Amino acid sequence: MTDDRTGYDVIVLGAGIAGLTAALSAVEHGLSVVLLEKTSAVGGSSVMSGGFFAFSGTDEQRAQGVGDSANAFLADLREVGAYRNDPALLRQYLDNQRDTYRWLKGHGARFPVIEISSGQSFARSHHTPIRTLISELADRFTAAGGTLLLEHRATELVRDEHGRVGAVIAETPLGPARFAARRGVVIASGGFSRSEELLSVFAPEQLAAIPYGGLGNTGDGFRMAWRLGAGMADMSAVCGTYGSHPDTGIEFHELLTAYYLGAIIVNNAGRRFVDESISYKSLGAACLAQPEGLGFQVFDAVVRARSHPGVPLNDIDMLEEIGHVYRAGTLEELADLAGIDPAGLVSTVERYNSAIAGGDPDDQGRSALVNGVGELVPVAEPPFYAYPAKTLMTTTYCGVTIDPYGRVLDVDGEVIPGLSAIGEVTGGFHGAAYMTGTSLGKGAVFGRIVAARLAAEDPAA
Ligand SMILES: Cc1cc2nc3c(=O)[nH]c(=O)nc-3n(C[C@H](O)[C@H](O)[C@H](O)COP(=O)(O)OP(=O)(O)OC[C@H]3O[C@@H](n4cnc5c(N)ncnc54)[C@H](O)[C@@H]3O)c2cc1C
Repeated sequence: MTDDRTGYDVIVLGAGIAGLTAALSAVEHGLSVVLLEKTSAVGGSSVMSGGFFAFSGTDEQRAQGVGDSANAFLADLREVGAYRNDPALLRQYLDNQRDTYRWLKGHGARFPVIEISSGQSFARSHHTPIRTLISELADRFTAAGGTLLLEHRATELVRDEHGRVGAVIAETPLGPARFAARRGVVIASGGFSRSEELLSVFAPEQLAAIPYGGLGNTGDGFRMAWRLGAGMADMSAVCGTYGSHPDTGIEFHELLTAYYLGAIIVNNAGRRFVDESISYKSLGAACLAQPEGLGFQVFDAVVRARSHPGVPLNDIDMLEEIGHVYRAGTLEELADLAGIDPAGLVSTVERYNSAIAGGDPDDQGRSALVNGVGELVPVAEPPFYAYPAKTLMTTTYCGVTIDPYGRVLDVDGEVIPGLSAIGEVTGGFHGAAYMTGTSLGKGAVFGRIVAARLAAEDPAA
């Protein structure tokens, strides 16, 4: 029935940051690796991402005088995750992040920009041009002897007579094939942001968000592991990210976080509805509940001047150039242009400015720009700007349970022999919400950990 392919040590499913890191590291450890990718290109959601990796204690932080530490990082991760994340996974990340940061720098990453972003109390988001990094990892993998097979969609995990996962059935351009591996199978197939079916089961309210993420991210790996009895974590925390123009397309990642620079967010009645300094995932949930699922980022010339051209999330210049930002000399004119109720906007801005001036408490309890850091600025200096934005279903950040070495655990917490999982398909790391940079970060960190473990394990055991 199937073409049989044997002789591999490891099969990796999915060529995003997690799969490429694991595959390349495994080859560097001397293993024979086949990397199966469902679509016709490598990259998945990783290549569409903002390219931010969360690390602490780096050369870039030191050079810019950022006094971050692993302890502060851990405290932020726990807080953002509402203490529902698995401390053992977080500790493993923190213990391995610096080696991974160096490994990435040695494999094509460079981090000229660091930013403070969602969930961070220090500038910890290290930005690298992500396309360059992804193609560098893929090139190095094949150059080192790894086998990369595009348009190979894994459909089934196969257990041997001892219950160990040692093979995969895949759909290939030449028909079904069976791949076998001595040391095991690593699922790195990403999340299910593109699966209407899984979203309707786990997060139906998110179906109103703009669908996004890698086109192959329909939860295949999650379902295959589920079929074998894998446990699940963080399934109730699925949430889109707030901040994308309603016309956002697959071609490029358009997302603005002007609210972390000082903008307010109002609905089309001109009313604020949330503390703008919280995680953009929580903002995503709040925005879905607004009329038309729409929230306008409203700001003035002072915030406009904080634009960071070329840096995703903060590039107001680019968004203005493509005509997605409204601009006017007065708030009333701005409201008319953008389709916001003028009287509502004017009174909201008055109340907001008065709270900053020390008059009344802020309507939404906002006291900082982002995550307790940064001084608020009034919306006062013309011209005024409005960026209409919705919630973008980029990622799911939940999935199969793993131990700190990336071994998949079943519903009873027992290891499923031979099966590993890394990256967005895994649950337990983020808990209730996500901190910027920790998904690319965890893909790379746990990718390397899994590769090192598989290399050290006795395949006969
Ligand atoms: C717009 C956007 C911006 C983001 N910005 C950031 C950021 O700046 N920092 C950050 O940390 N995170 C960010 N994220 C999240 C982050 O990019 C992802 O969570 C992360 O890249 C997931 O990596 P991964 O390797 O697990 O999955 P992916 O990169 O999605 O790769 C999974 C791969 O598996 C393939 N696949 C799926 N099913 C199968 C199958 N059955 N067989 C074989 N292959 C299969 C897919 O086609 C895909 O290529 C962003 C996400 C988006 C969409």
